[in-house]
This record gives sequence, structure tokens and C-alpha cells, in this order.
Amino acid sequence: MLTTPFDDDQLHEECGIFGVYRHADAARHVALGLHALQHRGQEAAGIVAFDGARFQAHRAMGHVAEAFESDRVMAELAGYTAIGHVRYATFGATILRNVQPLFADMSFGGFAVAHNGNLTNAMALRRRLVKAGCIFQSTSDTEVILHLVSTSQQNGVIDRFIDALKQIQGAYSLVALTDNMMIGVRDPLGVRPLVLGKFEDGTMVFASETCALDIIGADFVRDVEAGEIVIVSDEGIRSLKPFGSPKSRFCIFEHIYFARPDSIVDGRSVYDVRKHIGAELARESGVPADVIIPVPDSGVPAAIGYAAEAGVPFELGIIRNHYVGRTFIEPTQQIRNLGVKLKHNANRPQIEGKRVILVDDSIVRGTTSLKIVQMVRDAGATEVHMRIASPPTTHSCFYGVDTPERSQLLAATHDIEGMRKFIQADSLAFISMDGLYRAMGEPRRNTDAPQYCDACFTGDYPIPLTDHWGSEEDGPRLPLFSKAI
Ligand code: SF4
Repeated sequence: MLTTPFDDDQLHEECGIFGVYRHADAARHVALGLHALQHRGQEAAGIVAFDGARFQAHRAMGHVAEAFESDRVMAELAGYTAIGHVRYATFGATILRNVQPLFADMSFGGFAVAHNGNLTNAMALRRRLVKAGCIFQSTSDTEVILHLVSTSQQNGVIDRFIDALKQIQGAYSLVALTDNMMIGVRDPLGVRPLVLGKFEDGTMVFASETCALDIIGADFVRDVEAGEIVIVSDEGIRSLKPFGSPKSRFCIFEHIYFARPDSIVDGRSVYDVRKHIGAELARESGVPADVIIPVPDSGVPAAIGYAAEAGVPFELGIIRNHYVGRTFIEPTQQIRNLGVKLKHNANRPQIEGKRVILVDDSIVRGTTSLKIVQMVRDAGATEVHMRIASPPTTHSCFYGVDTPERSQLLAATHDIEGMRKFIQADSLAFISMDGLYRAMGEPRRNTDAPQYCDACFTGDYPIPLTDHWGSEEDGPRLPLFSKAI
């Protein structure tokens, strides 16, 4: 796994999915789309393409640019239809056989699937399937979908797929490929994003985020709705709603941190939402200061919004090194001790002698915030105030975002004053839940049934956590599998 001294203390993105139906150069367009979704997963990437006769797959560890740089690989992926995946493992080990899209030959033909999210009953289903004789090739939760489709007693691919979907629980956006269809699905609560796009010539595209449509020149058509199955074939587009119309619970953290700021997610500009969050923060917890400084990169739009609302200058007082990478796989203790400077460095002239407000997206374990505060003080700040563009992260995510166990989350074990002392800031404030919903342009109407998934701030998990021990609030994760691979 690629690590930096900072990565332990950050929430990791989940995965990104992309698909193109009926294009002369489908796989190259999928590779470009995956490149735009690279922020959602940097561990591995894969593409499965179909040329009318054969399915071809290429999967590799590492970034998209490395995985698909070879002309030979791209030539092998020739075909008019392709789906792809970028991975950050939230379930299953980081090994090649877990890299998606997964593919299987079934009685009706080939079936490939790429998944963003986490299934919360995958282990229960896997036990049942193994007992029934299924042989698993990976430790990925996604593989249960293949086995459920394969063993379904329903007739026809779509009915088998629906049968499988009705048995799985969790957060999932899927793109699947057969020999005559590309299928996009969002789970009944629409926790993870998926959009439909289109080229001028009618070629259809699925993508996790609209920024991946932009890179290939496709137009945004619409979001795939919560619980919707969209089938793209030579007959056109068909929409099915096999789960009825449950109330959507989109992941609110997509807006705070995961999605790219140039994406339109769930009908909203991510950049605008983040600026609104910053403005709300300024209104809720303003403090006299000389400069507003974002913790790059994800704190930048919120800091812009904060500065505009507070009427205080915005400066890039911390510069991020984007090239910290493979060099620091398993860093030595000496390199670890360099700490924050590997990834961030203070821009001293913007800080020295000033009262600084730092704006960041979240606090996970708190160790990064502590180092950033120290770095800014060392650069000569007279005061350091930390403002966080999310409520305190008190609970783990089980829906596809890699968060530490609850006991590791600073906000689960400290109150605000305890957290302030831990990070050694002069003051610390988080946006309130109501403020966050206001920033989304959708005031929080009913705390019993919020409009979004906000479980990492509230513990209100909208989907059962079947595979996890204990209560839904604080159950630790089960070990993945007894036989680690
Ligand atoms: Fe998103 Fe948090 Fe819900 Fe996970 S628990 S889906 S990160 S809002």
C-alpha cells in the first residue's frame, strides 16, 4: 500500500467507476475517465472491454496513467464498450485479484462489474454461498454480486441482477457490462454517486462524478437516482426501480471532502457547497484574525468562503507537495520524524507575526492537525485558530470510506476543548450539523430521518451493519476473512 506519513490520519477516498457504451475507442475513453476519478482511489485500476466477441481485461496496481500507459495494453482492450474502476480498498486486501472490474463467464455469457461503496452483509452472503459450493477468487465484497447473479433462479440477466441486488445490503454504485448491455445502479438510498452522460453522437457514459465526463467531452444528462437501474443497450435506455421509491440518503461527506470541487454531485456544485460551508463556519465561530489559511487541498474552497464572509484576507500560507509518493513507502523513523514537512510546508511570509485562522475539512485522529498547528506556530504565527468544515467525526463509516475504528477517532474520545488541547490550537470550532445542512441549501428538517447519510457525525446508520459486531453505533469491524491472502 502506498503510504505517506500523513495518510494514517486522513480519510481515504473510496472508489471511482466509469463506463462507455458504443464508442469506437471505448477503453481509451474509460482510461481518461478513470484518470479524472483518480482522487477516489490510487491503489489500483482496471478496465474490462467487449468487442462484440470477446471480453478483455487489464488490471494493475498503482495509478491509472501507469496501468494504461502501454499501447499494447490499450490495443488488447479494443472494443466498443468498456467499464473501469479505480480502487482504494475499504474491504478486501490490496492484491491484484481484488482489483476491479470483476468478470465471470456465466450461463448467459460474460458479466463484468465495477463497484463503488461497501456491502454491509457481504460476509454473511459469502458464508452462505461458500456453503452452497461457490468458489471465491477474491476477498472483495463485490464478488458476492457475481455469485448471486450466477446462482439466481431467475430468467434473463436483468432479473438475475435484480435478484442479486435485492439480497445485498450496503452502499453501492455499480457499472456492469454484458455482451449487449451496460447497466448502472445506485443502492436504494443512493449513498454513493453515479451520473449518466452522453456524447453528441449518442454514446452513453456512466461516471462516479461529472468531472470524468468533462475530461472526455461528454455532456451531463442526469444523476442515476437512488434505487434506480439504468440499462443502456442498442434498443436505447431503460430505467427500472425495483426497490420502490425510498428516501435518498446521499453521503454528505462527498460534498465536504471526497468529490472533486469541479464536480456537480447530487445536483450541487461541490465547490459552491464547500464555499457555503466556509461562510457558515465564519458566521458560527468567527474570531478576530489577520489571515485565513487553508490546509490544502480540500480545505481551500471552505477557506475562500470563510475569508469572504469574514472580510479577512485569504492567503496560501501552507504549500502542499503533490509529489510525495512511492519514495516514502514504509518510511524510516527518521523520515517519519520529518513529519508534516514531507507533504506540507509553511509559506512563512504569509504567516509571520499574524493571527492565523486555519481551515481544514475534518479531524480524524488529530495527529495531522497537531503537526500543522505546530508548523504554523514555528513559522511565526502569533495565534492559531483551527476551523473545521465538518462536524466532529465521531463514528466510523461502513459504507465505502476508509475511516479508523471509532476508538481511534479524536472526536469519539474528546470533547471540543479536549480536542483543542490535543492539537494545541488557540481555539477550535467545527461547523454545526444545522450549519452544514444550511450550507447544502437544504435545512435539516427532521433529525429522525435526515436528508443525507451523516452517520460519521451522528451515528445514525441508515443501512443495517449486518457483518459487524456489537451495536450499530460503535461496533468494531470484523476481521475480513479467516484466511488472509
Ligand atoms: Fe458518507 Fe459518513 Fe455516511 Fe460514510 S458514514 S457514507 S462518509 S456520511
